[in-house]
Amino acid sequence: MNTDADLLRHPLLATARAMTSAGLNVGTSGNASVRLADGLLITPSGLAAEACHADDMVPLDMDGSPAPGSPALAPSSEWQIHRDVYAAFPQARAVLHAHSPFATALACQRIDIPAFHYMIARFGGRDIRCARYATFGTPALSAAAIAALQGRSACLLANHGMLVYGRDLDHALAQAVEFETLCEQYWRTCQFGAPVLLSDEEMDEVIERFRWYGRPQRADEDGRR
Ligand code: 13P
Ligand code: ZN
Repeated sequence: MNTDADLLRHPLLATARAMTSAGLNVGTSGNASVRLADGLLITPSGLAAEACHADDMVPLDMDGSPAPGSPALAPSSEWQIHRDVYAAFPQARAVLHAHSPFATALACQRIDIPAFHYMIARFGGRDIRCARYATFGTPALSAAAIAALQGRSACLLANHGMLVYGRDLDHALAQAVEFETLCEQYWRTCQFGAPVLLSDEEMDEVIERFRWYGRPQRADEDGRR
């Protein structure tokens, strides 16, 4: 019988490769994971997605120990961030980390991205935070990321890159591409000076609209759509 890890090896590798084709990652930078019933499946450390096989994906228990059937390869050095996101946010079912060009440029400025565009609300709040700096692959970096993700599904990692989670691998990939696009748009608008920001009230209205945006239509009690 197939375990959920067996079923998700190919989709996880395809997502990691799609991150490279979308220009989010180069070489061995970045990593990806997907939630399992009792742990996670994550890309191996130090291997470019193009060089990986589906069998190289590493299943881990929630305590980070290799699950039965693990390959000899080490899991991504950022496995703690991935594990801690699944532990902290029940709605997270796939986590992606990238050193994408525009997100990383902003992360090196250690700035939170303000409400320059309404699509900021797509990630849960009125801004997107930049997590404080910590060395890659450490519990300190994971703690910083979890703090920056409170009420959000994406954050920057200072002097490093970005982190996004989604309801499945395809959603997380789409969110990562949207996030990188927003970072580029912010960078471009800053070339003209500080942008006009949306107010808290305007952003709260957008956050409310995103609660039903893209959902199938359903008439309300008055028959309105
Ligand atoms: P891994 O190859 O260990 O996943 O590391 C890449 C990375 O981006 C570390 O932050
Ligand atoms: Zn990284």
